[in-house]
Amino acid sequence: MSDLRDLYQEVILDHGRTPRNFGPLEGANRTSEGHNPLCGDHIEVHAVVDKDGRIQDVKFEGHGCAISTASASMMTDAVKGKTVEEARQLFEHFHDLVTKDDALPEDDMDKLVVLAGVREFPMRVKCATLAWHTLNAALENEPEAVTTE
Ligand code: ZN
Repeated sequence: MSDLRDLYQEVILDHGRTPRNFGPLEGANRTSEGHNPLCGDHIEVHAVVDKDGRIQDVKFEGHGCAISTASASMMTDAVKGKTVEEARQLFEHFHDLVTKDDALPEDDMDKLVVLAGVREFPMRVKCATLAWHTLNAALENEPEAVTTE
């Protein structure tokens, strides 16, 4: 298993170092801000959702630890092109994966499974789910900032 662990580690470090879909998003019609005070992670998620409820584009800004940045990076990759409903379902699956010991990866998880290891570190679960909570709030169009507290 240690090879797999190394691979997972490598994917997380890669996304943490060079996050995908990072920066402002022109034309965004959904936006939300999230904080994880326990770690100091701060993130903004911007999305363009079309009239059919499909996420045409999604980007994030902010600063945080490697886990929160990597998770946000992988999330944007994962939900782009999905409908709001599909994204919400994926969040549920992801949340189970990082919080439940017996959760198995669902078919739609793809490389998100590399973050399953955070379930052993409760403090890190908040880092890994911050971007998802923030995306969820953005999709709900809640104007106020979210917090993992
Ligand atoms: Zn963090």
